[in-house]
Amino acid sequence: MHFLDQAKIYLKSGAGGPGAVSFRREKYVEYGGPDGGNGGKGGDIIFEAVQGLNTLIDFRYAQHFKAKRGDHGRGRDQTGAGADDLVVKVPVGTQVLSEDKEEVLADFTEVGQQVVFLEGGFGGRGNASYKSATNRAPRQHQPGEPGEEMWVWLRLKLLADVGLLGLPNAGKSTFINAVSNAQAKVGHYAFTTLVPKLGVVRHKAREFVLADIPGLIEGAADGAGIGDRFLGHIERCRVLIHLVDIAGDDPVEAMRIVEDELAAYGAGLDDKPRLVALNKLDLADEELGAAFAEEMIAAGAEKVFNVSGATGEGIEQLLDAVLGYLPDRTSTETKDVEVENEDEDGGEWSPI
Ligand code: GDP
Ligand code: MG
Repeated sequence: MHFLDQAKIYLKSGAGGPGAVSFRREKYVEYGGPDGGNGGKGGDIIFEAVQGLNTLIDFRYAQHFKAKRGDHGRGRDQTGAGADDLVVKVPVGTQVLSEDKEEVLADFTEVGQQVVFLEGGFGGRGNASYKSATNRAPRQHQPGEPGEEMWVWLRLKLLADVGLLGLPNAGKSTFINAVSNAQAKVGHYAFTTLVPKLGVVRHKAREFVLADIPGLIEGAADGAGIGDRFLGHIERCRVLIHLVDIAGDDPVEAMRIVEDELAAYGAGLDDKPRLVALNKLDLADEELGAAFAEEMIAAGAEKVFNVSGATGEGIEQLLDAVLGYLPDRTSTETKDVEVENEDEDGGEWSPI
């Protein structure tokens, strides 16, 4: 089973710059020779796999990637400058698929891997290059070659940094919806969530992937209920958020049940740091919340937060604590790659 983050983006390489038509002007010489230079090459679209990005979330905000066109040629045989290539940074693990998703066009498996995906157009020839014995004053020149354009899908298998645990009805789906871009189903009944849901959380300019693991019930490790096959997904999480319904029968017991499941599962799960979140605080008063928190600490919880997924109370502090467990990275690495080209067809400049 895998979870995919996908984004559809538009790519366009830069057109080549047009060649120039120009004649040398010399004193006392009425017609100097042709000296119009060639246009510069348009920018390529290059993909590069980088470390430290875990999602494609940035591509929801920046969907158009257009490299600039080459500069036009000039008189005195000056070739136009080539445009900079546009480097689109993607997380390792990203695949680039055709628009119909039928074909894998590129597959990024290593940090630093680069693929020139769309070539920029070549610059057009200037009139100097048409000079010949029979045509000493050519006015011929070429426009630049157009760039290439394409819509593609980016696809990335997501890996969760943070796991969300709790008995059915603890409020996991509500919580993940409140803090992330996921759209989990919320329901009164157990096992609304049949597969783990992943959401990308942005908090204080950081981002992480949160996985909502289907409700554990007592004996899950032995195959009761949905069983523990989904726990495999949280094995690589750096921290677990354990939601406990403050308005349930016995919150401390509820916490213990899930803790026992973690221990029974093994695989180092119960060694992971856990943040207990006493949820649905809006249904209880603060005193009760504080009293339960104390009891939970006495029962072995490391940290307890009082929160409400419904009202948002306490969530900021909880997410702050989560960030402390994640490797230091920001989500801003792709920000500098978007270049909008005002003058993409290069029609403005006209040779003399
Ligand atoms: P899950 O089974 O752990 O995913 O729990 P859900 O998110 O589906 O929530 C179970 C029930 O609790 C739903 O009826 C929710 O509306 C309700 N619920 C979830 N979070 C809160 C909360 O913070 N406050 C209140 N009052 N109700 C909540
Ligand atoms: Mg749910």
